[in-house]
Amino acid sequence: MSTIGVADGSAVTEVRQGVGVSPGSAYGPVVQVAAPVQPPQNEEAPADPAAASEAAIASFMHVAEDLEARSARADDTARDVLKATAMIARDRALHRAVTKHLGEGNGPATAINLAIDEFAAKFEALGGYFAERVTDLRDIGSRAMAHVLGRPAPGVPPFSVPSIILAEDLAPAETATLDRSLVLGIVTRAGGRTSHTAILAAQMGIPAVVQLPGATEIPAGTPISLDGDTGEVVLNPDPEVVTNQRLRRERRAAALAEVSGPGSTQDGHPIALLANIGGAKDAELAGAEDLEGVGLFRTEFVFLSAAHAPTLEEQTAIYSRVFAPFDGRRVVVRTLDAGADKPLAFANLGEEENPALGRRGLRLSQAKPELLETQLQALAAAARATGADVRVMAPMVATIAEARWFAERVRANGLPKAGVMIEVPAAALRSAQVLAEVDFGSLGTNDLAQYTMAADRMEGELSELLDPWQPGVLDVIAAAATGAKHAGKPLGVCGESAGDPLLALVLVGLGVTSLSMATSKIRGVRLALKTHTLEHCERLAAAALAAEDPEGARAAVRAAATPELVALL
Ligand code: PEP
Ligand code: MG
Repeated sequence: MSTIGVADGSAVTEVRQGVGVSPGSAYGPVVQVAAPVQPPQNEEAPADPAAASEAAIASFMHVAEDLEARSARADDTARDVLKATAMIARDRALHRAVTKHLGEGNGPATAINLAIDEFAAKFEALGGYFAERVTDLRDIGSRAMAHVLGRPAPGVPPFSVPSIILAEDLAPAETATLDRSLVLGIVTRAGGRTSHTAILAAQMGIPAVVQLPGATEIPAGTPISLDGDTGEVVLNPDPEVVTNQRLRRERRAAALAEVSGPGSTQDGHPIALLANIGGAKDAELAGAEDLEGVGLFRTEFVFLSAAHAPTLEEQTAIYSRVFAPFDGRRVVVRTLDAGADKPLAFANLGEEENPALGRRGLRLSQAKPELLETQLQALAAAARATGADVRVMAPMVATIAEARWFAERVRANGLPKAGVMIEVPAAALRSAQVLAEVDFGSLGTNDLAQYTMAADRMEGELSELLDPWQPGVLDVIAAAATGAKHAGKPLGVCGESAGDPLLALVLVGLGVTSLSMATSKIRGVRLALKTHTLEHCERLAAAALAAEDPEGARAAVRAAATPELVALL
């Protein structure tokens, strides 16, 4: 953190360094996302319990009205959830429970918290639909407590001026429901390069920085500028900083606009450039771009706020909308990757000690085969209804038997091409045998880094270990690429590493055949490929593998890449 001057005599200009995770720059006022509220310790009993009860019930009504107002602005799935949640906030039995706890001598926030605990236990005991609503119930409690305590409501506050959102971290569902037209940028104190906040921000084309020191203490309304490429954030920037940032953005955009068309190295080796998407809105945006299709459709993103498993008809309609913009182009769909960092209310096998190592991804599909079956049927129906070249792959495959099991189901549903994500080191090391069972593979370098380095991808403090430039991770990628070559199967990359122009060159040098990333990153990677031959990429890969650590690998590749590319980074 450094202070570099005073912009207008009152506001101090200050530069802070975070990690850039979604390209582009932004300038605007800060909107702070408030953390969930807890009742104060030893909260005093109210002098007038009847008046306190009235105030607490008014707080629940306020929460219900707020949720209803938000539901009017939300998309289809989020709308139903918000309306249903508002109904819980209006529930008389819940209000009576609060009144009872107030009568027992508890303070207002404590009484609300006790009532919510009581209802959460009841909902859990009822199971099914009710158990799935416990998170919403706790959110209601947190909002009602904030209201009685006169604190800001947790979550993203309403705002109407284009702003930069600052938070400790954002839940995937929270990020997905942000209004793109009002959010200029996102900054978080926590999170990492591959946390889903970072992934969603890049997919939505919103510049973002994670791991910014003191991000949550910056007062609301403070003007800041952020650079999602370098991770630099400037508080109260003087006009020159803002202008320079804008000029840099324009220079870069002009250079990137000069290359277009299918991805290929300078000497003409094709490397398909594909988009990572999370739903119909992303598909519409990506479909209008100069790219060869979709390399990763994260289907679980569509259902982040769904309380029930979506029906065959609902899924068919959604997938048809996603495929429609890609007539004649490929769309690689990943079946539900629920669990760990992407929990789905309807695909939940209960608490686990280590969710990232638990029954997630394909393991969850094997435990709930009816979910996979319905999804495959819907994908097949949507594929038939549109002209997209649909290919389906499974997440978190570890063994040959799992790859075979999945491919059989895909083909039984009449879908022509089955693939697997290579994101577990065991599958990477045995990729020749695993890929022999399917038509293609896609390296998920986010999880591959997590599992190779034994470092939780949600743990911002471990981001150095999670760096995809770690030579150990590159070794595992190299092994997977060699195996794919032996099996004669294409192997792409769809983790965040594919969107880093220098690392993309290394990946191509290691033998990967396609790169899938947030749409906002495609142009930079296309230019990187166009300015390097395959042989040059192989030399860059060798230089990265020879390094001792990520910094060494990055520096070696930067030093050996073409100056034309390096000047733009
Ligand atoms: C990955 O793990 O690299 C990947 C692409 O999948 P996700 O980030 O959704 O886990
Ligand atoms: Mg993954």
